[in-house]
Amino acid sequence: MSLPERLQPPVRVLMGPGPSDIHPNVLEAMGKPTVGHLDPYYLEIMDQLQQMLRTLFQTQNQMTFAVSATGSAGMEAAFVNLVEPGDRVMICVNGVFGSRMVDVATRCGAEVKTVERPWGEVFSVEDLAPLLDQFQPKVVGIVQAETSTGANQPIPEIANAVHQANAMLIVDAVTALGGMPVKVDEWGVDVMYSGSQKCLSCPPGLAPITFNPKAVDVILNRRSKVQSWYLDVSMLASYWGSERVYHHTAPINMSYGLHEAVRLVLAEGLDVCFARHQLQHQALKAGLAAMGISFAAQDGHQLPMLNAVTIPHGVDDVTVRKGLLERFGIEIGGGLGAFKGKVWRIGLMGYAARSNNVLLLLAGLEQLLAEQGVSLEPGASIAAANQVYSAGR
Ligand SMILES: *Cc1c(COP(=O)(O)O)cnc(C)c1O
Repeated sequence: MSLPERLQPPVRVLMGPGPSDIHPNVLEAMGKPTVGHLDPYYLEIMDQLQQMLRTLFQTQNQMTFAVSATGSAGMEAAFVNLVEPGDRVMICVNGVFGSRMVDVATRCGAEVKTVERPWGEVFSVEDLAPLLDQFQPKVVGIVQAETSTGANQPIPEIANAVHQANAMLIVDAVTALGGMPVKVDEWGVDVMYSGSQKCLSCPPGLAPITFNPKAVDVILNRRSKVQSWYLDVSMLASYWGSERVYHHTAPINMSYGLHEAVRLVLAEGLDVCFARHQLQHQALKAGLAAMGISFAAQDGHQLPMLNAVTIPHGVDDVTVRKGLLERFGIEIGGGLGAFKGKVWRIGLMGYAARSNNVLLLLAGLEQLLAEQGVSLEPGASIAAANQVYSAGR
């Protein structure tokens, strides 16, 4: 067998549901010299990363760190630690990631019940109240930014209702963190997890997570051992805490990447960063509207960083996405589950949320739609986006 060529990946514009465009500083940080995972330098980096993650999650929670695996491992870590076999767990399902929570909680041996909303819609307290009352769950799971539908779930009122029912709240902020406000302490979220590759502009591989003191207390008073050795936070805490007990070999260079990624968000300023995501979302939305493309998620509850839009009638999903990738170098996402073939998912996450990307996508999409016979006014989408930019200056 002849040896493959040295790797030379194409440079893509990543505007799908994640991974998103990686900030060049992050890639550079990941190429720095690897030190040992108990090296004093690395321990200092871990401390700094924890502190920056607290600021990002807007929490004082001591138990805040990054799980060495992707966002789904963050989800798994939240459930395996809080849930014991036989516990009652209630999950809010309005897309793919709520369904994944159901699967994870069921595998923990929980008795699981769901409340459901149609894809693209969000939950109100009234939707949860009857089951909270009848079922008396120990844990409730909900997704803040449902990446499969583009729906933006408000959390504060839900958190209130969950606590009044004496339950604990797990929030999936994989796509939310770094792109919109997440206020763990103010909202009273018990456990929140995320991933490195959405709005943090870092490659996939780490899952920031935070447990409040109440959640930690529940974990320390479990009747049974956490069934996952790798994700048992009481053991992970001894590594991230002051004892520094060896648990697993941390992915050193990934941590460098996340360190720089979170540092960049904090250096930009949370409010400035969230406003940038909003502005790019508004510009994209105006441009798409000029081509007659509308949003799939409920009005007033559309995410800035994940734009799920309806594919115009008669337009072939795969041809357009292939054209974007091959001719314009842009990746967008197709629909999942109920939205397959009906919806495109356009990500404006982190470093990807910038004007060059929006304008390039609109230009490419306009051309590809015209080729598919959609009647549109050439340049109108670009003009509409530019109007939003001028108004936002
Ligand atoms: C991407 C995503 C996940 C899963 O994260 P992975 O990094 O793919 O494991 C979970 N929840 C939501 C809302 C996501 O968008």
